[in-house]
Amino acid sequence: MGKTTIDMSGKNVGQVLDIAYDGAGRLAIIVRRGDGSEKFFSIEEIVAIGDFVIVNPERSPAPPQGDSKNCPHCGKPNKMQNKYCVYCGKPI
Ligand SMILES: [Zn+2]
Repeated sequence: MGKTTIDMSGKNVGQVLDIAYDGAGRLAIIVRRGDGSEKFFSIEEIVAIGDFVIVNPERSPAPPQGDSKNCPHCGKPNKMQNKYCVYCGKPI
């Protein structure tokens, strides 16, 4: 608690207010920013925890790259080796 949180560019985001859990039950932190507002960072956005907590708000839970392709019919991600979409059943 009370650790200074900085982003990837070294900018001070604020102070860690509390530990929380996101909707999936994973660890997250609540940071109080300089203007008094609170910001929620999920575990995916936390890069490192040490003397400072480093967060990367740009980091999002990216879908697996390289071994997936999106169905041209419904747009859902499928494994590259799939011949048919697992969601809509159409050939991809
Ligand atoms: Zn589909």
